[in-house]
Amino acid sequence: MDLGATKIFSLVALPDGREVGSDSRLTLAGQGPEAVVGRIVESVRAAMATAGAIETHLAAVAVAAPGPIDHERGLVRNPPNLPGWGTVPVVRMLEEALRVPVALENDANAAALGEHAFGAGRDFRNMIFVTVSSGIGGGIIVDGRVYRGATGAAGEIGHMVLDEDGPRCGCGQRGCLEALASGTAIAARAAALADEGASPVLARLARQSTPPPGASTGLTATDVERAALEGDAVALRIIEEAGRYLGLGLVNLVHVFNPDGIVIGGGVSRMGDMILEPARQVVRERCFPLSQEGLRIVPGVLGDRAGALGAIVAMERAHSKRRAGTP
Ligand SMILES: [Zn+2]
Repeated sequence: MDLGATKIFSLVALPDGREVGSDSRLTLAGQGPEAVVGRIVESVRAAMATAGAIETHLAAVAVAAPGPIDHERGLVRNPPNLPGWGTVPVVRMLEEALRVPVALENDANAAALGEHAFGAGRDFRNMIFVTVSSGIGGGIIVDGRVYRGATGAAGEIGHMVLDEDGPRCGCGQRGCLEALASGTAIAARAAALADEGASPVLARLARQSTPPPGASTGLTATDVERAALEGDAVALRIIEEAGRYLGLGLVNLVHVFNPDGIVIGGGVSRMGDMILEPARQVVRERCFPLSQEGLRIVPGVLGDRAGALGAIVAMERAHSKRRAGTP
C-alpha cells in the first residue's frame, strides 16, 4: 500500500504484479499516526474484499511511505509530508494489527522499483526514476536493486543544487532542482509573471483560481499547462525553462550514474514532451557521447500505482532476505 500525504491507496496483487483488488481513502494525517494506521488496516481489509479474498489469504503487506525511513527498525521518522508525526513504528503497529510480515520502503524508491519491475523501466538495468509533482523525488536502481546509501537517505534528486542563489526550496536551502522544476516552482513562476502583467491568459486563470489558505494565488502547474496549450507564449516558456532545469539535473545524474534509462513520473510528467523534450535537449547538449549511447528518457506509465506496485517488489526482497536468515 501507498501511504500518501492526502491518500491511502491499497492494492492487492499477485507476485507477478497482476492487480486483483484495490481500495483508496483519505489519509487525514492531521489525526495522528494511530488513527491513520487504523485506516490503513481498514483499507487493506477493504482491498482484500474487492479481490474476493479473506484475511487468511494475506501473505504480507508492504508499505510505501514518505521518507525519511529507518529500514532496519521499520520506522517513519519525522516525514515532512505528514506534519506532526515524529518517529512512528509503522511496521510494528501494522504487524500487530494484521498479523502478517510488513515491509517498509520510501515512497520514491518504491515508485522506482514499480516502474522498473512492471512499468516503463522494464528494459533498464541501471535506471534513474524522477518523480516531478508538487515536489521532486527519485530513486536510483543500480544493477536491478534500489540504491539506498549509507543511512537510507540516497535518491534525494530534488535537492540537487543547481543554482547557489536560486529560489528558496521547501527544504530551506536555495536553488535545489525542486525549487526550479517542480509543479510548485512552475506555479510560483507563473504567479509572479501574471502579477507583472506579462501574460493576460495567466492573469485570467489566476483570477479564476481559488487560493488555498495563506496563499496569494491558486494558480497551479495544470493552469500553466492549459495556458501553454491555448498558445500562451509566456506559459510555454515557463514550462520549457522548468524542463531545461530538469535536464540539468539529469545531466548531473547521467555523468555520475551512466544509466541506460531515466523514467520521469509524477503529475507534472503528464505534460509529456512539452516538458520532457527541453530536458532531453539539455542532456543531448551536455552529456558525453559515451554516456548517451542508448540512453532513453521516458515518461512513467504506472501513475499513482507505481508506489504500491513497487512496494510489492520491496516486500518480495524483504521476504527472501528473511528466508535466507539475514537480518
Ligand atoms: Zn531543497
